[in-house]
Formats: sequence, structure tokens, C-alpha cells
Amino acid sequence: MANDLFNSFMTGPDENGRFGDFGGRFVSETLMPLILELEAQYEKAKTDDSFWAEMNDLWTHYVGRPSPLYFAERLTDHLGGAKVYMKRDELNHTGAHKINNVLGQIILARRMGKSRIIAETGAGQHGVATATVCAKFGLKCVVYMGAHDVERQAPNVFRMRLLGAEVVPVTSGRGTLKDAMNDALRDWVTNVRDTFYCIGTVAGPHPYPAMVRDFQAIIGKEVRDQMTAAEGRLPDTVIAAIGGGSNAMGLFFPFLDDKEVGIIGVEAGGKGVNAKMEHCASLTGGRPGVLHGNRTYLLQDDDGQILEGFSISAGLDYPGIGPEHAWLHEIGRAKYVSITDVEALEAFQLSCELEGIIPALEPSHALAHVMKIAPDLPKDHIICMNMCGRGDKDIFTVAKALGFEMGEFA
Ligand SMILES: *Cc1c(COP(=O)(O)O)cnc(C)c1O
Repeated sequence: MANDLFNSFMTGPDENGRFGDFGGRFVSETLMPLILELEAQYEKAKTDDSFWAEMNDLWTHYVGRPSPLYFAERLTDHLGGAKVYMKRDELNHTGAHKINNVLGQIILARRMGKSRIIAETGAGQHGVATATVCAKFGLKCVVYMGAHDVERQAPNVFRMRLLGAEVVPVTSGRGTLKDAMNDALRDWVTNVRDTFYCIGTVAGPHPYPAMVRDFQAIIGKEVRDQMTAAEGRLPDTVIAAIGGGSNAMGLFFPFLDDKEVGIIGVEAGGKGVNAKMEHCASLTGGRPGVLHGNRTYLLQDDDGQILEGFSISAGLDYPGIGPEHAWLHEIGRAKYVSITDVEALEAFQLSCELEGIIPALEPSHALAHVMKIAPDLPKDHIICMNMCGRGDKDIFTVAKALGFEMGEFA
């Protein structure tokens, strides 16, 4: 068990890539040598100062880190309770946290001598971040995207093409993110020599969940320093939205051993966590199974068929959740809740009106939970939520949901 030795929650996964009963590597024999090589190379890079020096240089000069920690004063006054801070990862280059992880994986790919990068994408944010960093390094980039998503996310498809990436529409299955990930894994097995698979969240077979977490952990590390500078102590509660769970793991991980810090993950409740499964709440509304090489909580029907789920936010509709979250849920170190589309839309508007920040629909879910709990908490209670993406990509969805006519722009 990961937390036996020094009673730490930060030592996982074990040598088999397990977080308790979750994670692991459920992959075909043909994929195994690639996974093992990746693991060996990552283990080497992890303790190599020159690897982190390269990361830090690009985080500073290309991404714009550290992102600010911002005290949301009007929002705090409006809610009338806890003090609310936002970690401003929406200010990163490409508009979200995704690039923190993409940079790490692509620097690793370059060290491994790989010249072709493949990625899966749902809403297109991870695809855009991957295409961006590939352009920066002159690497060939192929992005698998469900055919259905290609239609729904035209602006991001065009961005990827402008950046020189090839976008492959996936028609297998139902043509969504889950199917795109399957096709990317197939590509990897057939193009072993020159190809690196850059996964966009804390999912997939070991070592991906741990590696992606390590790259995103820059978020929580910065919050520790910034909150200590601002308030002289750590926050009482940290909150983040969860699709696959990478921005949340990045914020949570550096706080896992600070028992006084409460940790809350917010899943997409869609139309409500109901029997019709019109939501994407894998932990609050799913059960354990195996998908994309790891064991975790999944949205599935009685026969174990994976369900698509539903959310107003395209970036949250992954039918699984990172295995480390499944473990934190089972041992009770983190709490997981869900927020509906309607509640997220209300939070979206409040952030615009009170703080002048147009948030992505994903972190609007985290903010909606802040709105629920902050009023009943004392004024010296400090909450930090991860504002993990900006809302430019979502204005058409929001306009439609609020009944606005966008005229010729719609
Ligand atoms: C992709 C995305 C998410 C969901 O991914 P996680 O791995 O759960 O972080 C959330 N917010 C934004 C802004 C995204 O682009």
C-alpha cells in the first residue's frame, strides 16, 4: 500500500502502478514493452536536474508560469462567508492547464528520440496544447478526435490544423473521446519506433496517471508558496473540477499529507446524477471497472458497457476518472461531489459579473460548489479553487443555454 511506510499519501503508486485497488496496466502484450520503456525513461528524467531545468525555463517563458493566485474580493463579499482565492491557470498559453503536462511529455519524447507525437482529444483543448508544443519543437503531430467531436468543436479543429497537426476523425464506437483514445493506443502499437503517445489526463496505463500528475503538480506547489506569502498559512479547502482529473490531481497532490487541508473534487452532474445516466459523475454515479489500461470508477450499464455520459461542458465528459482519485475517494482523503449544468451556468455568469473573469465551463463547476459552501463557512476559512481554463471556447454553448441570439456568429 502506498501510505503504509510513513503514513504518507504521496508515495503512490506502487511498483505495479496501483493506487490501492485502482490503476495498474491492463494492456495487450504488444503494448507492454512500450509502456515499460516509457516508465524507465520517465523514472530517469524525474531525478535529472537538467530535465526540470528545461521544464522550468519553458514554464516561465513559454507558458507564463507561475500563474497568479488571486483573491476574489467581490465574490467573497457577495457570498458572505469564506475567503475565496482563484488559482489562475486559465492565463497559461493556450488557455488552460493542459500545456503544463504536454510540455513534460514532449520534452521526455525528445529525450527518447521520438519524432512523431500522437494524442487523443475530446473538446480539443489537449489536442490544441499538443499541436502547439509540437509546432514549437518541429515535431509531427497526429491528433485522434471522435468524428462527433470534430463536428461540435470546429474552432479547435481549425486551430490544430493552423498549428500544423493532422486531425484524424474517429468513427469507431460512438465517435467520441473514449473511441479516440482507443485509436491512439492502436496507432502507438503499430508505430512503435518513432511515436510517443501524449495522454491528456491522469488516465491510461501506468506510468501515465503518475507522470501526468507529477507534471500538473506545479499548480499545487505554486499555491502552497503563494498562499503562504499571502496569508501566512495553507488554505483550509482546495477545490477543482474533474473530467479525467488532471487539473484536480495537480492542485491536490502537494496537499495530500496536510491533514488539515480539506480536498474536494467536483464532477459534472449534467442534468442530475440519476438513473438515466445523464451526467459524467464517475465516482458519485459509477462503479469500478477497467478502461484504457487502468482499473477505476466508470460510467457503465448493468452489463458493464461503458456509457457516454452527458455534460454541458465538453471537457468533463470522460466516462472514467483517474485511478488516484478513485483511491482517494475510497480511503476518504478527498471528497467528491457533483454539480449540475444549471448550477455551473449560474457560477459562470457570477464570475463574469463580479470578477471580470470569463471562466471555462469546467472550472465553473468548481466555482458552483464554492458558491454552495462558502456562505456557511467562517470568514477566516480560506478556499482555493482552480480556475483551470478560460471561457472563450464556451461562449457559443453558454449563449445557446441562456437563450441569446448570436445572429450570424452563431
Ligand atoms: C480538459 C479540461 C478539463 C478536464 O480535464 P482534467 O484532466 O479533469 O483536468 C477541465 N478544465 C479545462 C479547462 C479543460 O480544458
